[in-house]
Amino acid sequence: MKLNHRHFIVGITGGIAAYKTCTLIRRLQDEGASVQVVMTEAGSRFVSALTFQALSGRPVYGDAWSSPSQSGPANGMAHIDLSREADAILVAPASADFLAGLVQGQAKDLLGSLCLARDIPLLVAPAMNRQMWQQPATQRNVGQLRKDGVDILGPGSGAQACGETGDGRMLEPEDLLHALMDRFGPNATVTFASTLPNIRGLLEGKTVVMTAGPTFEPIDPVRGITNRSSGKMGFALAAALRDAGARVLLITGPVSLKTPDRVARTDVTTGLEMHAAVRSAVSELKPDLFIGVAAVADWRPAAPSAYKLKKESGGTLAELQWLENPDILADVAQGPDAPFCVGFAAETGSLNELKERLPAKRQRKNIPLLVGNIGPDTFGAEFNRLVLCDAQGLKELPQASKHELAYALVSDIAKRLSHED
Ligand code: C5P
Repeated sequence: MKLNHRHFIVGITGGIAAYKTCTLIRRLQDEGASVQVVMTEAGSRFVSALTFQALSGRPVYGDAWSSPSQSGPANGMAHIDLSREADAILVAPASADFLAGLVQGQAKDLLGSLCLARDIPLLVAPAMNRQMWQQPATQRNVGQLRKDGVDILGPGSGAQACGETGDGRMLEPEDLLHALMDRFGPNATVTFASTLPNIRGLLEGKTVVMTAGPTFEPIDPVRGITNRSSGKMGFALAAALRDAGARVLLITGPVSLKTPDRVARTDVTTGLEMHAAVRSAVSELKPDLFIGVAAVADWRPAAPSAYKLKKESGGTLAELQWLENPDILADVAQGPDAPFCVGFAAETGSLNELKERLPAKRQRKNIPLLVGNIGPDTFGAEFNRLVLCDAQGLKELPQASKHELAYALVSDIAKRLSHED
């Protein structure tokens, strides 16, 4: 029951995908949520209000001028009262026409009025024919809604009711359920678009090469030395850079994370492999920005054994010789035509100790910006807190999800890049 005590307004506009919303309502209830359905006139042409009333166990609202007979607000203020009780409004399906109305702040029916009068998050799941979705008008509208802080869920791609195939299908009920659980569940990892800085377009036309995750340095064919970096901060940053319009190449050590959509990924294992991959990417792509988020092992075993090391008699451990790994970030920073370089530093100890160490490290690496955070609790966690160190001094980004911090960081880096140009 991941949505216990949550209450959602589910808006239904004109689209055949409304039949999927029946399943969604059931699934929301399975997870402990309650649902108030509000339909537009067009919505009620596809699945009847009676069906939604039976499923949700509540009278369905439609007309702004008349409240449902039972238990509806009697003061004629449904457009305000309904959203006061709710955690969010989800419009699924959201038609092209409804999205256009939202952009203009139209309040021509109860659902439109609710969306306009809300002070809670609004999520929409577009559903339409692929050509309607691709029209510049729809794309403009969706872009504007994103800027206005509306969460756009989907659409998906595939066979459509009209017989065509392409983008525009409403996301499946299970996907929508997970989108709500990610935002309102006990382990919410996603914050609302409205609380994030608007970074869209800030890095349009820019190329970014970045590293993330740990490295793994073999000792023998079955053992090695690695660290607890999960890659989550780096992957969140790659997705935020992409959202800002950048072309992103993510060079990552071994992690178990899904590649963000529209981000190019190269997998490597060792520090030396990461170094080689970064070198060739930097010389080939000539990036505007290089960000080293990876926790690269400082040392590697000098001569990994070709055979599995055996326990020695007497219980002593075979002695290993170590070689220092190249400093990838410092190498990029001192190269010819170096991109703008950003480093990450994970330290243990107190925040004050971190702050004391950052300036010297930034100078040693010869980079304009070093971002510090404190481990090991943040490794693998969803939340983090960052300290930005540049030539002017230190600035703190308070504790937030890695997703939010990535957005804040991209917004900060974009400003620095625009001053460079
Ligand atoms: O010196 P330290 O390892 O704390 O520096 C961390 C920063 O340097 C990170 O940005 C990391 O990606 C980068 N680094 C690197 N190559 C190394 C070690 C660290 O690029 N061999």
